[in-house]
Amino acid sequence: MIISAEFVTSAAGARDFPRDRLPEVALVGRSNVGKSSLINALVRRKLARTSAAPGKTRLANFYRVQRESERALYLVDLPGYGYARSEPRSKGGGDAAAQQINRLADAYFARHGADAAGPVMVLLLVDARHPGLETDLEAWTWLKSQPCTRSVVGTKVDKLTRAERARHTRELESLFDVPVTLVSAATGEGLDELWKLIARLPSRRMAP
Ligand code: GDP
Repeated sequence: MIISAEFVTSAAGARDFPRDRLPEVALVGRSNVGKSSLINALVRRKLARTSAAPGKTRLANFYRVQRESERALYLVDLPGYGYARSEPRSKGGGDAAAQQINRLADAYFARHGADAAGPVMVLLLVDARHPGLETDLEAWTWLKSQPCTRSVVGTKVDKLTRAERARHTRELESLFDVPVTLVSAATGEGLDELWKLIARLPSRRMAP
């Protein structure tokens, strides 16, 4: 399987997003959940910068990816939480970075709602070791109101025992009420399954 992949742009706001309407797969999740590692594992090269320091990535990074003769798409690395419109975390002038991330994610999804972009599938990444974190559940609730196909991916499954895998999968699927794909960027487990899920992304935008 030949995969071509290239970094295209880092977007700080709406005017920086690509305009060619390729399908997009956006990865969202808490800082350190393993977004960059998963992107690198999917494309089998070191494309995304992994961060030891949480919250380092504050831009939306677009990678253009094509697997053999399949259609090209963007993998989009969105900044770590909190983007929910209803949660002005930085109220009172606190965390400017969080505010910036909120605005960016809002702009990202507004663009899809306004027909300015191709179809988007959002993968909510959650740490498979910790099912049911409040911020993850809030993010899911918010994502359900957005015009996109969405799915939940449990990361770092290599850190779970066999018994934990079964139990955490059940917990996650019950909490999010959708099938959950478990992956490991470290061992490659679950990546084929994730590519199959990505292939189900519709080639045209969903009606709002
Ligand atoms: P991001 O902030 O969401 O982009 O997270 P990173 O990809 O930078 O990963 C955060 C930390 O988790 C790093 O120390 C990674 O090496 C580690 N990590 C990421 N994915 C995996 C995985 O599948 N298995 C294990 N064991 N560690 C992982």
